[in-house]
Amino acid sequence: MDRPPRTPPSPNPAQDASGGIHTTRLAPSPTGALHLGNARSFVVNWALARQRGWKIVLRIEDLDTPRVKPGAIDASIDLLTWLGLDWDQGPTIQSDDLAPYTESMRSLASRGLAYPCELTRTQIEQAASAPNEGDTETPFPRSLRPALAPQPFTDSGTNWRLAVEPGSITFTDALAGPQTFNPAREIGDFVIWTKRRCPAYQLAVVVDDAAQRVTQIVRGDDLLPSTARQLVLARALGLAPEPTYTHLPLVRGSDGRRLAKRHGDTRLTHYRDQGVTPERVLGLLASWSGILPEPEPITTRAFLDAFSLDTMPRTDAVFTPENDAWLLA
Ligand code: GLU
Repeated sequence: MDRPPRTPPSPNPAQDASGGIHTTRLAPSPTGALHLGNARSFVVNWALARQRGWKIVLRIEDLDTPRVKPGAIDASIDLLTWLGLDWDQGPTIQSDDLAPYTESMRSLASRGLAYPCELTRTQIEQAASAPNEGDTETPFPRSLRPALAPQPFTDSGTNWRLAVEPGSITFTDALAGPQTFNPAREIGDFVIWTKRRCPAYQLAVVVDDAAQRVTQIVRGDDLLPSTARQLVLARALGLAPEPTYTHLPLVRGSDGRRLAKRHGDTRLTHYRDQGVTPERVLGLLASWSGILPEPEPITTRAFLDAFSLDTMPRTDAVFTPENDAWLLA
């Protein structure tokens, strides 16, 4: 597959007091659905990195969707380039090498911290107490956990779960502030290796962030609960230091729900195909990022110069029909 050439590492990445380099990642899932909400996260992540001299790794997360259509990876990369973003390393493609994830599974299984689980979703839901309305996840009931014992990891088409012990996980997010989660209660033993014979999102992210020495994670705040789970997993794997997190408020539709298909076609490809310029898209993103009071076309460079985390809104942005009309005007 043709992929853009690797760009050389930036000459002067910022260093922290201990001499370490700060690194962030752009981590699109090549689902073909890069929409205005995702784009806002990527552009803000990129702007923060370029302002602060962080190295940027482009990582294509093609393991967390069941099927990636041919060409979807290149299409995601094209869109980031269309927006004017660049990076210093990558793209790395998760599915290119499963060995690091398998190695982590071996480590967890050999210490009795992970176990295979053949239970179906229905069996788990029946054993769990009634979920609250609107819950999208059913916590895995502790009663269904088998006795833990060291064992070899075998990838035999079965889910594997991480043994999650009770206790709260706290961290301070650079934007969202102090956070407390209790993964044992909220999700229980979660799946880290899937019966599709590949790592689940949580494992893949933790292993990659450590391998790529990612120190700064910037992403949508729907992933705040995932951060707690990733910290549990990173600690179980003995991975340190822990990254700094900046979780951005989401973009929602006028109905208050997370931007999705029901709000019409908000994919970047939809607008690009209709001749909307990247400057116009960036102008809308800028109006959601504390840069412009109202959308107006803006270059990537101007976005970078004007962005400040201090003025980034702490509340969700709303994508309105007027925004859509303005883009297409
Ligand atoms: N690949 C994920 C997404 O596109 C991002 C995950 C992450 O930032 O950890 O939603």
